[in-house]
Amino acid sequence: MDTLQQRLAEVRRRIATAADRAHRDPAGIMLLAVTKIFPAQVVRDAYALGLREFGENYVQEFEGKLPQLGDLAAARFHLIGHLQSNKCARAAEMFDCIQTVDSPKLARRLNQAGKPLDILLEVKLSPEQGKAGAPPEELPDLIAAVRECPNLRLLGLMTMPPWSADQEQSRPYFQRLHELAGRHGLPQLSMGMSHDLEAAIEEGATIVRVGTALFGKRRKP
Ligand SMILES: *Cc1c(COP(=O)(O)O)cnc(C)c1O
Repeated sequence: MDTLQQRLAEVRRRIATAADRAHRDPAGIMLLAVTKIFPAQVVRDAYALGLREFGENYVQEFEGKLPQLGDLAAARFHLIGHLQSNKCARAAEMFDCIQTVDSPKLARRLNQAGKPLDILLEVKLSPEQGKAGAPPEELPDLIAAVRECPNLRLLGLMTMPPWSADQEQSRPYFQRLHELAGRHGLPQLSMGMSHDLEAAIEEGATIVRVGTALFGKRRKP
């Protein structure tokens, strides 16, 4: 069994190698440690190894963990799972960044919570990506709505391509997201996971969301 420290070193090496191929500075790529389903102690272990940015998918699950993480002063938490509008107030309290905003209604609900939040818009680039995410043609209205919310700081776009073992299948999605972010003047691109982070970095990712490669297999939610 590898230790978390060894797996972290391997993920950092993969990020550095891909950045090097793309002539990019790896310092411009955030490693977001995805700790969904894993207990609070796993977040603490990762924090002890220097990780500071954490991704969680479920508001309710995170509610159970957060009380055990209060002393991790520099930790920042990102919601990367689908958000229901009735959970916006709670999500705004617990998270620093919401990466899954996909409707003006969700943006307004988050804004109403009254806490400053970093925001990424989740984009759906094909029907196979499921229900979550705004299609590209809705982005102009969605961006305008978020920019009218004084508590929301719009940073960029996020997407999750349909799963494939071959990361070349993800690449066109990453290229498309990059192009959309450029068109709308948004600096952050959250794309790439354990199996396709190299292609994502080559296509401009500034945030890679990595769970399995750091923490191993998850049980089903
Ligand atoms: C679970 C999850 C990840 C991490 O996936 P791994 O394959 O475990 O690295 C990244 N992004 C989102 C949106 C997820 O739900």
